Amino acid sequence: MASEKEAALAAAPSNSPTIFDKIIKKEIPANVVYEDDKVLAFRNIAPQAPTHILIIPKVRDGLTGLSKAEERHFEILGHLRYTAKLVAKQEELEDGFRVVINDGPQGCQSVYHIHVHLLGGRQMNWPPG
Ligand code: AMP
Repeated sequence: MASEKEAALAAAPSNSPTIFDKIIKKEIPANVVYEDDKVLAFRNIAPQAPTHILIIPKVRDGLTGLSKAEERHFEILGHLRYTAKLVAKQEELEDGFRVVINDGPQGCQSVYHIHVHLLGGRQMNWPPG
């Protein structure tokens, strides 16, 4: 299986539907840990930490990545972040966690439907790779 970096470099930024659309439509299974009317949170299929959850908007609305954000996205961007806090509590990550949004090829983004990574359950390092 390609590394995260190889997958990111192979994925051209695009407005095409992504695998996350299939997860939203329940066409492929996902291990959903949280859901409301606006966002969906599910476990990463290739976890990089004991807890690794992706939080996505149910409607992409042009937000292929954070670099495409416009003023109309203020609310959903806050909603995604706040959901990270809720899910971190649900996952009992009281010792801390990390929230990441990868953007573009150099940011190691491989799926062009904005998503927040919530990572926890182990000691993180800095700087990140
Ligand atoms: P990024 O590299 O920031 O674009 O993150 C995309 C993430 O989606 C990667 O960490 C993948 O492991 C994850 N991913 C891809 N397909 C699935 C899937 N079907 N279910 C859960 N996570 C997935």
